[in-house]
Amino acid sequence: MKAAPDDQLRLLDVQELDSAIDRLEHRRTTLPEHAEIEQLGERKAALSDDVVRAETEDSDLGREQAKVDTDVEQVRARMQRDQQRLDSGQVASPKELENLQHEIESLHRRQTELEDAELEVMEQRETVQARLAGLKEELAAVGSSLTEALARRDTLIGEIAADIEKNAAQRAETAGALPSDLLALYDKLRASSAGVGAAVLHRGQCQGCHLQLNTTDLNRIREAEPDEVVRCEECRRILVRTADSGI
Ligand SMILES: [Zn+2]
Repeated sequence: MKAAPDDQLRLLDVQELDSAIDRLEHRRTTLPEHAEIEQLGERKAALSDDVVRAETEDSDLGREQAKVDTDVEQVRARMQRDQQRLDSGQVASPKELENLQHEIESLHRRQTELEDAELEVMEQRETVQARLAGLKEELAAVGSSLTEALARRDTLIGEIAADIEKNAAQRAETAGALPSDLLALYDKLRASSAGVGAAVLHRGQCQGCHLQLNTTDLNRIREAEPDEVVRCEECRRILVRTADSGI
């Protein structure tokens, strides 16, 4: 294949722009923000679950507390009623009086038990509510860290996209001026050779595969016409000759 030496040099500009775009795309997919956002998202989901669990626990305890309160009220009312009957002097039968006194005593015991239970539930609820408040605080902090990381990621992706666009426009312009067969060969090689289709021959070394060319190959390149498109024998990439090629 033949191509004017200037076009071969311009192909290096295209290569540089393509490599810059590749680096930008690589950067876009490997931003540390991606991992950070994933971790924060997982943390947020786990904390939300913990909050729901603690809220359920709290409302269960709330119901338990209300039930104990009702029981305490009922016992108190019954005791009051019994006491009034006792105080009224209307109960004459000694047997009935004795029963009434027994009942008041047992209601007293029941009341003490219920009050202990009530206290215990209240303490449990306090513990759960303190934990819930802590979880909610942590959830809010994780939420704002996530919002902040998302904004940071979006800004970076916006900047990278703008850089890619700028390089792509320049690439289109530079590549547009090149002969189509040269560009087609370059594109084909670039696709099959880790993104590098054209490389400089620098002091006898191919800058594509970084191998030093042997004397036979160097002689062959030295003898080739300037408009001959030469290739590296090792990596098959287009080798572009410059003043520093060492030939
Ligand atoms: Zn090579």
